[in-house]
Amino acid sequence: MRGLPVAAEPLPPPVAAPPDYSWARAAMLARLRAQGITHSGVLAAMGSLPRELFVDEALRMRVYDDCSLPIGQGQTLSQPFIVARMTELVLAAERPVRRVLEIGTGSGYQSAVLARCGLAVFTVERIGHFLNLARSRHAACGVPGVRSLHQDGFGGWPSQAPFDGILVTAAPETVPEALVAQLAVGARLLIPVGAQGQSQRLMMITKTPTGRTQRLLDEVSFVPLLPGEMG
Ligand code: SAH
Repeated sequence: MRGLPVAAEPLPPPVAAPPDYSWARAAMLARLRAQGITHSGVLAAMGSLPRELFVDEALRMRVYDDCSLPIGQGQTLSQPFIVARMTELVLAAERPVRRVLEIGTGSGYQSAVLARCGLAVFTVERIGHFLNLARSRHAACGVPGVRSLHQDGFGGWPSQAPFDGILVTAAPETVPEALVAQLAVGARLLIPVGAQGQSQRLMMITKTPTGRTQRLLDEVSFVPLLPGEMG
């Protein structure tokens, strides 16, 4: 006997699995090691942070590639190697490194990496919108220990100085003396220096008991450090 036709149940809508970036993150770590990054804390921090949360959804597929990415308003998130290299260099100072200042919060990724390395992070950004986004990203990935300030960073953060290290992630034409003044003895300032459209060099300035030493490192390409604040 043939059964009665059974009305087909509507199929539930397909549920898209959230994209898994763990393979891309592992490939990034392998590349960083091949590029000479050795600090285990830096590698662990970058291996644990979801870098994809720091850019627009449309760019997430490329976020672990060896390139910088736009974050809006003409600004960029640096390529993984530059983030790792600057972090490694600031940590390798000949003094204990606990409190660091970043100028140019941008997406919040660099400050999250510093915080995951166990540092107390102070970060200054001139664009208020970026700062709000960065704060919510830090909360979303459970990154504590980042204090941020909406201000023009040319003057640093004097009330919190001295710092055990300072990173500047936008390029001025010359080194702002206020930042050098906020370094503790033995601390390092990592800063890209150069005019826009011309080649910039990553500079490492170390405060000494009597003055400073200065080393020119890699050729780099950062957005300009600009004066003033905006919303
Ligand atoms: N470190 C960031 C990338 C920085 S892009 C990250 O992890 O994503 C450079 C940032 O520096 C931009 O957000 C830009 O607005 C900011 N900036 C430029 N000039 C500045 C200034 N004078 N003070 C503070 N921030 C500045």
